Amino acid sequence: MTQKINLYINGAFTASTATAYLPVENPATQEIIAEVPLTELKEIDQAIALAGEAFKTWKEVATPERARLFLKYQHLLKEHQKEIAEILATENGKTFADAMGDVWRGIEVVEHACSIPTLMMGETVENVARAVDTYSYIQPLGVCAGITPFNFPAMIPLWMFPMAIACGNTFILKPSEQAPMTAMKLAELFQQAGFPKGVLNIVHGSKDQVNHILNHEDIRAISFVGSVPVAEHVYRTGTHNLKRVQAFGGAKNHMVVMPDANKQQVINNLVGASCGAAGQRCMAISVAVLVGEAQNWVNDIKNALSTIKPGVWSDDAAAYGPLINKQAKEKVLRLIKSGYDQGAEVLLDGSDCVVPGYEKGYFVGPTLFNKVTTDMDIYKEEIFGPALLLVTADTLDEAIQIINNNPYGNGTSIFTNSGAAARKFQHEIQVGQIGVNLPIPVPLPFFSFTGWRKSFFGDLHSYGKQGVRFYTETKTITARWFEEDVPGGNVNMTINLK
Ligand code: NAD
Repeated sequence: MTQKINLYINGAFTASTATAYLPVENPATQEIIAEVPLTELKEIDQAIALAGEAFKTWKEVATPERARLFLKYQHLLKEHQKEIAEILATENGKTFADAMGDVWRGIEVVEHACSIPTLMMGETVENVARAVDTYSYIQPLGVCAGITPFNFPAMIPLWMFPMAIACGNTFILKPSEQAPMTAMKLAELFQQAGFPKGVLNIVHGSKDQVNHILNHEDIRAISFVGSVPVAEHVYRTGTHNLKRVQAFGGAKNHMVVMPDANKQQVINNLVGASCGAAGQRCMAISVAVLVGEAQNWVNDIKNALSTIKPGVWSDDAAAYGPLINKQAKEKVLRLIKSGYDQGAEVLLDGSDCVVPGYEKGYFVGPTLFNKVTTDMDIYKEEIFGPALLLVTADTLDEAIQIINNNPYGNGTSIFTNSGAAARKFQHEIQVGQIGVNLPIPVPLPFFSFTGWRKSFFGDLHSYGKQGVRFYTETKTITARWFEEDVPGGNVNMTINLK
């Protein structure tokens, strides 16, 4: 019988009372590997109430003690990294190397959470008026919630709950219904690390469960990562309900290729950044803007892309895995067809890709479109597949304008040997994360993940110092002490003050 995934509420793994379940599929085989409950709304209410109870004592646990529990958690995650990666690769399809990276990027956030005593330092000014001092503390909010996508089943939940919990909050996580098993393993290790019950809770489901969380009056803050329409919905609904919301959406990331760049570096980086993880990364490069003479490199790019092959996660030779499900594959195939219909030159078409032994897998081969214009659907939509678009520009100014006219602002990069070109680019581009001779510039957790424009709705971003600000409230105290109240009096103090 297929495994039914539990809830994790108040420190216990329990079966949901839900009557409806969704299948969790291995995308390389279509095998149903588990069933995930559409959690009953009353179970979510109960989880939120218990998280509220846990908050009362968790917020009083000394900050260094909270950090120590995260040190233990970091150790356990490292110890079980391979096991987590295998679960992740089976339900998500990405290669084992990629899955290990997914877990690792999450572990790095846990390491950041271990610095919480320093991160929670407030500010002080002595003598804001004569003998009056002002100082601020930052304090946790209460029960926070996180809603996560399928494409980073370890890293993205770990962007959220370690930072929130280290700050003294308690947390409700609703993982992607398409890849929910990884989160359960993260919770198992969390429990083993010795965190008190009710601090982290996991409920499952989709739209209805998310909407219930967005409307629940006891949820103080919501972190969301997913597609643009849902990010917008989560932001509007959450803020309408007067909650703090950070909502990360989709993207269309461009790489500018200057003619003075190292050609081989450009090509190697384009292959991995466009097709790695089957293009299912919010920071994937989906458009290369070839400037001037770099337009002569089209054949080299095509040759390099044509050599890579998708495969099952356990195949070391596979460059990437399948798409997550049937709908995702259908969307990519529809967009490839639209590329032909709207006049792009399709240099590589991965529509008919079959991986021997895995004929039912949702695989798409590397796909390359040349002569792309910004009015085509393949340019306007996030393909989220192993596809690269080539557009041309005569100058760097023109390349910058193309990118700034695109509504998304998650990531971008420039490959060049000119410091002046790189500086101009980083200064003028309206995108929140920029790589210079680096294709996927995801900041490490002591910085923040700073998507802009349609790729992010909110003010404070994930992890780094901004993550701490997002999950806390500032309390500012202005204090005066009267010298005559000092026991025994203090003559010197009186003299100094006058
Ligand atoms: P998705 O928007 O379909 O789902 C994300 C979450 O929202 C899931 O937990 C899902 O259950 C829930 N959800 C789905 N539809 C909903 C609805 N109508 N109402 C309420 N909740 C709903 O996204 P996905 O397909 O899982 O993930 C891929 C998308 O995420 C891509 O667009 C990708 O670019 C984006 N993404 C962005 C970032 C970033 O940092 N900006 C990172 C990773 C992924």
